[in-house]
Amino acid sequence: MMNIGVLALQGAVAEHIRSIGLAGGTGVAVKRTEQLAEIDGLIIPGGESTTIGKLMRKYDFIDAIRDFSAQGKPVFGTCAGLIVLADKLEGDEEPHLRLMDMTVARNAFGRQRESFETDLDVKGIDTPLRAVFIRAPLIKEVGPEVDVLSTYKGEIVTARQGNLLASSYHPELTDDYRLHSYFLDMAKEAAAKR
Ligand code: GLN
Repeated sequence: MMNIGVLALQGAVAEHIRSIGLAGGTGVAVKRTEQLAEIDGLIIPGGESTTIGKLMRKYDFIDAIRDFSAQGKPVFGTCAGLIVLADKLEGDEEPHLRLMDMTVARNAFGRQRESFETDLDVKGIDTPLRAVFIRAPLIKEVGPEVDVLSTYKGEIVTARQGNLLASSYHPELTDDYRLHSYFLDMAKEAAAKR
């Protein structure tokens, strides 16, 4: 059984733990860096990226998650979590983990389309995935190692770089847990290599 941590500093933690369970894993709320040693993959949830970033600095998660990722263990950022993973943010904002080679625009849909749901074709998932966008970010540019897994109206909304996975939307707010299954498979593959 794979133990998947959900960074529990702020944001949609319980919903991710539920989706991990539906996908056949065990979800664990991670509040202290020591817990990273006990998990096979980490999800950084949606919420408010500035707040999550501040709390990550306060509780020493920046270096700890960078080390976790350097060990080959997968990290999945959803919505605010995607922003936290990015190497660059548009505007003058300071990036957080700087793990994934991409430039991200926050709140990229503007006021008219602050939140909406849609069905997305995602590479690796056989039929369209139900996706909930809430004040969502967009991936504006990606480096050569990044694989684009889905776009919405021509803009990148799901991407993978090795053991890093990122979605602009909230996959944990529906009963469609297939992106969590995809991430669980990443964790199993990584565990088999260790
Ligand atoms: N707009 C938020 C941010 O910039 C992200 C929104 C979300 O996670 N649903 O942090």
